[in-house]
Amino acid sequence: MEKRVILSVHAHPDDEASKGAALIARYSDSGVRTVLVTATGGEAGDILNPAMDTPAVRDDLPRVRADELAEAVKIIGYHRAEMLGYRDSGMPESEANQDPDCLARADLDEAAGRLARIILEERPQVMLTYPEIQRRYPHPDHIRVFEVSMRARELAADPVFAAGEGERPHLVAKVYYHLWAPERMHALHAKFLELGKESPYSPEWLANAEADYEATTKIDITGFHARRSAALRAHATQIDPESRHWFGLSDAEAEEAYPTEDLYLAVAPEGYVPQGVEEDVFAGL
Ligand SMILES: [Zn+2]
Repeated sequence: MEKRVILSVHAHPDDEASKGAALIARYSDSGVRTVLVTATGGEAGDILNPAMDTPAVRDDLPRVRADELAEAVKIIGYHRAEMLGYRDSGMPESEANQDPDCLARADLDEAAGRLARIILEERPQVMLTYPEIQRRYPHPDHIRVFEVSMRARELAADPVFAAGEGERPHLVAKVYYHLWAPERMHALHAKFLELGKESPYSPEWLANAEADYEATTKIDITGFHARRSAALRAHATQIDPESRHWFGLSDAEAEEAYPTEDLYLAVAPEGYVPQGVEEDVFAGL
């Protein structure tokens, strides 16, 4: 069997910590090569941790965020981390969104070509990216990451593109979307109440929490939640260490409430039909 490789594509520094960090830590520890590509530098991010909101940090935010990312990468256990080299697109109508160097304004094939080159070097069987439908948080960079990932998969499998890079073409066999699972929020909310802690989720918010996709794949992250928490803390400008949303439950409590990270299998090898809920992203390969 060829070397197993997972490629994770994210939009901003800190997305790799909030989405799929524990499952990557698990695969990384089990000997799977894990590669992170971050599309933008997160230049438009606000400082969300009051303790870090100082003039020195504000003036040097891109470098600070790069250092935070490097630290999170080490904690999670990614073997390689690359930047795609675009600027954060901010939200629509914002100043950042007008910048010609932002990801949202980048030529699709140009951006996808950069990612396809990494695919040809690493030859991953599995790619994790963002969903086509993102109703809850439609950030332009997150939507663009989906488009760039799918186009990059096509380019890497194209013999003409690959030959231009001096490589054999490579088809990424499986593509997964990171999921935001309402059942996870419900389970965490129940745990807060059970422990007599104040829940960060209001009943109204939970009642309106709707999934864009149902999970096809649940990866057991028991024992790895602490790596996710530490990676989040490494993003000190972005993550408030006092946040109940991120840290209101201990790692053990969060794992007990909801012991998996969930994915949606968007692209599978021809003829492959999962038997029930998948427990391994390499199932069927
Ligand atoms: Zn993001």
